[in-house]
Amino acid sequence: MLIILKPGAEHSHITTLIDYLETRGATFERHDSGEYKLISVTDGAHFVDEKQVTAFQCTLRCIRLSSPAPLASGSETKQKKRVKVGDKLVGNGGLTIIAGPCSLENNEQITALVKSLISGRIDILRAGAFKPRTSPYSFQGLGEEGLKILSEISTEFNLPVVTEIMDTRDIDIINKHSDVLQVGMRNMRNYSLLKEVGSQEKPVLLKRGSDASVNEWLLAAEYIINAGNENVILCERGITNPTSCKNVVLDLNGALEIMSLSSLPVIVDPSHGAADRLKVPALARAAVAAGVDGVMIEVHSKPARAFSDGFQAIIPETFKSLTIELDKIHQIVRGTDGV
Ligand code: PEP
Ligand code: MN
Repeated sequence: MLIILKPGAEHSHITTLIDYLETRGATFERHDSGEYKLISVTDGAHFVDEKQVTAFQCTLRCIRLSSPAPLASGSETKQKKRVKVGDKLVGNGGLTIIAGPCSLENNEQITALVKSLISGRIDILRAGAFKPRTSPYSFQGLGEEGLKILSEISTEFNLPVVTEIMDTRDIDIINKHSDVLQVGMRNMRNYSLLKEVGSQEKPVLLKRGSDASVNEWLLAAEYIINAGNENVILCERGITNPTSCKNVVLDLNGALEIMSLSSLPVIVDPSHGAADRLKVPALARAAVAAGVDGVMIEVHSKPARAFSDGFQAIIPETFKSLTIELDKIHQIVRGTDGV
């Protein structure tokens, strides 16, 4: 971090700034000989609040040179993070395919669906048991009963599973039945939940808040890693845009941005990003062409009868042909940086 001081800044104001940096535990150096007096923060810049520094009377400009999220950015290791899920590695240069229904509805639904999914290509099964719904009258998920079904399916078909956690009180039960803990877009800013999943060993799939900047998303991941869990997978799932179709835009630009800022695996959810089944395949292809580490796609055998998000669920036949295309696209982009 570089702090440029106003010409003629009063000594007492500079002392206030220095006092602030010291209280934050930052290490810094002063450069008083040039045209502008400068303070360079050499260590601990992530403890320093840019807005606070800018607000001091002596500050002309404050430029952040290092990531505010040293753990999630991987600035320490500089190596791309691989996250182990069951016997699969997410972020190892391959393409991870996560698929399944929005909600787990009953045993028959999920069993029939999984049988058709495994005839194609799938690495991880998704299905929600605790559902964040806008209306309290909408299906809320099967809860613990759903989790039990999910883990039985996981064992029977030897497929790791991911399911959403909404409440810190559910941590033990979800931990018991799921291989990956999904934090949904509504909870990306639930810092108690982020710390709770951060204290677990199971990998976390962190969705981007639909109104969150890439920086806020990165800092949400930092919460999890800072709490002790470095196995985080980032998921772009569309951001709110009132002028777009269905009020949502899949932000591939944001996905690329976070790929350049972070060492964590990045996947894309074209289903919530499209909110329209007809657009899901094209957005999935675009995401893979952009070079992401995986996709998460909602699939339902009878979308019109789905308990949630049926309008964006593709049918298993479409999913199967789509995954063949995604693998081909991935083959083409693999080994390039996508530029
Ligand atoms: C989901 O994956 O079904 C879900 C609710 O996702 P999001 O948090 O992205 O809306
Ligand atoms: Mn859904």
